[in-house]
Amino acid sequence: MRLRNIPEARDVIAATELVIKEAEKYKGHWQDFWENDKPLHIEVGMGKGQFMMGMAAAHPEINYIGIEMYSSVLLRAIQKLEKDPLPNLRFLQIDAKDIEEYFEEGEVNKLYLNFSDPWPKDRHAKRRLPSRQFLARFGHIIKKDSVIEFKTDNRGLFDFAVEEVEPAGWEILEITYDLHHDEKMNAGNIMTEYEEKFSAKGNPIYKYIIRQK
Ligand code: SAM
Repeated sequence: MRLRNIPEARDVIAATELVIKEAEKYKGHWQDFWENDKPLHIEVGMGKGQFMMGMAAAHPEINYIGIEMYSSVLLRAIQKLEKDPLPNLRFLQIDAKDIEEYFEEGEVNKLYLNFSDPWPKDRHAKRRLPSRQFLARFGHIIKKDSVIEFKTDNRGLFDFAVEEVEPAGWEILEITYDLHHDEKMNAGNIMTEYEEKFSAKGNPIYKYIIRQK
């Protein structure tokens, strides 16, 4: 998702407490940022934050960080969170390829990827968030035995993601090719903005849950 450049976005991001500043200094001790030791769940590529806001409202026992690299998109998430404040949700503006600079090994308890950009050209495969290159980065920061949950309506991207799991050293715990008609996997599902948009058009939603071997 890229929105038209909004000149004021940078100023709003710089001024708001909802976006974590100097986040590198919390690497290894995110409890100091939250001033509690609740588990930490993150969404990489959160867009305008609908999923993160739904999750944070439903699970006050968890701390959430929504990661988004584009200022214009992040601005929309900030505006929403300002309207409906949630003490257990904050945002981080980084490119996910640098994620290991911000989280220590095993520090993240769960990681969500939702409707990640497909990067359809083969030569861009390593930019796809469920690629083996990104799974290696995520594998360092996520706690052993913790999971990544990935949803998309893009069959090509999902097939690619499934093929990446084994060679990246992960295993599929659960998988569905029609999330909204899978009673077990859909229990407690919070819809993302893209999920609402594409399921309304009749597209099935694909989802896997994977864990490191
Ligand atoms: N997750 C949301 C949803 O399901 O509605 C948004 C999906 S949108 C297609 C993907 C988002 O991921 C975009 O806002 C994009 O800017 C962000 N993104 C893509 N690659 C990223 C990266 N390397 N680091 C941080 N954000 C990224």
